[in-house]
Amino acid sequence: MRGLLDLSLEELQEIMAGWGEPSYRARQIWGWIYRRGATTFEAMTDLPKALRARLSEAFTISTLRPLAERVSQDGWTRKWLFALHDGAEVEAVLMEYTDRRTACVSTQAGCAMGCTFCATGQMGLLRNLTTGEIVEQVLWIARWLAAHGERLTHVVFMGMGEPFANYANTAKALRLLIHPDGFHLGQRRITVSTVGIVPGIRRFAQEGWEINLAISLHAATDDLRNRLVPINRVYPLHALMEAVRDYIEQTRRRVTFEWVMIQGVNDTPEQAEALVERIQGMLAHVNLIPLNPTPGFPEEASPPERIEAFRRILEKAGIPCTVRVRRGIDVAAGCGQLRAAVTGRRPRIAGISLREAYA
Ligand code: SAH
Ligand code: SF4
Repeated sequence: MRGLLDLSLEELQEIMAGWGEPSYRARQIWGWIYRRGATTFEAMTDLPKALRARLSEAFTISTLRPLAERVSQDGWTRKWLFALHDGAEVEAVLMEYTDRRTACVSTQAGCAMGCTFCATGQMGLLRNLTTGEIVEQVLWIARWLAAHGERLTHVVFMGMGEPFANYANTAKALRLLIHPDGFHLGQRRITVSTVGIVPGIRRFAQEGWEINLAISLHAATDDLRNRLVPINRVYPLHALMEAVRDYIEQTRRRVTFEWVMIQGVNDTPEQAEALVERIQGMLAHVNLIPLNPTPGFPEEASPPERIEAFRRILEKAGIPCTVRVRRGIDVAAGCGQLRAAVTGRRPRIAGISLREAYA
C-alpha cells in the first residue's frame, strides 16, 4: 500500500485523473487531510462511497503507531515515541510556549553522523524516513493540538537524524508543509537544522525558500570539531563557512549557529574568540544550548557562569547570541533519548532537551 502523504498534489491529481475522477478531487482529499485532520478515507464524507473504498485499498494516511508518550512536569513539553510500519522508531516533540506551539520532528531513524554527544548519533543509522513519515509527525501533533483547542505555529527539523542526509524526502516534506493547498504553514515558521552537509546547504540555498536554516557548529577549530562532529573531516570548517556565506549571499537570510555548551571542552574563551573570528560580520545569530548529558558521552553541561562568559565575548564582538533554556528535561525530550529510555537499550537517564523554537 502506498502512503498518501508521500504524494505531491500533482502526483495525486495524476492518479485521480487515471481513475477517471474530476480534477478537483485531489484538492478535496488534501483539504480533508491537511486542513481538517482526517486520518481515514471513510471520514471524507463528501467523497463518493466507491471512491473512498478504492482509496482505502490503495493508500494509507496513517502509519505512525505511538509507543510511548511523556509529558514534562510543567506540562509544556510532550514527547511521543512512534513505531513505523517496519518497527523502526522515531521521536517527535511538542513544545508549548505562551505565544507559540512548536513541533520538533525527525527525518531519519537514528543518524549516521556520529556526533559524540548526541543520543541519536550514538545509536547509528537505521534508515531514512519517507516524506509521509516526516509529514505525519507534524500532522499528528497538529491534530493533538486541535483536539485541545490549539493550533500548531512552528515546526523545527531537529529531532532524530540529519535532514540533509535525507535531502529529497525532507525537501518534499517541506513542500507539502508550506503548500497553500497542503498544510500551509508559513515558511518563516519552519527551521531546518543541519550538522553542516555542504552539498545540502548549497542545494537548500537554491530552493528559493524563506525557511530558516540552522547550522550545528559546536566548535570553531577543526581539531575540536573533528572530535565532536566527525563529519567535519568530510566538510571541514573552511568549506562549511564558505557554503554558509554563499547561502546568506544568495538568500539574504540570517542563519543560526547552534553551539552545545560542554564544560571545559568547547566553552573556553579560545573557542569563543575563534568563533568570533569565523563569523564576525556575517548575517548570523548564535544559540548557546547547555549540553544534555547522554550515556555515551562522559562530559557535563557548562555551568551558567561559563556560558555567560562565552556569551559576553560574542556580545563584545557584536554577534547576536541567545542562551537557550532546556525544555522537557524530565521527558527525555532530546534527540534519541526517549527511545533509549523506553527500549532499555541504554540506561535510563534524566533526559535531555533542547530543540527550542526559532523565530
Ligand atoms: N542532525 C541535525 C538536526 C538534529 S539534532 C543537526 O545536528 O543539526 C538538533 C540539535 O540538537 C543539533 O544542534 C544537535 O547538535 C543538538 N544536540 C544533539 N545532542 C544534544 C545533546 N546531548 N545536548 C544538547 N544538544 C544536542
Ligand atoms: Fe545526527 Fe544531528 Fe545527532 Fe549529529 S547531532 S548525530 S547530525 S542527529
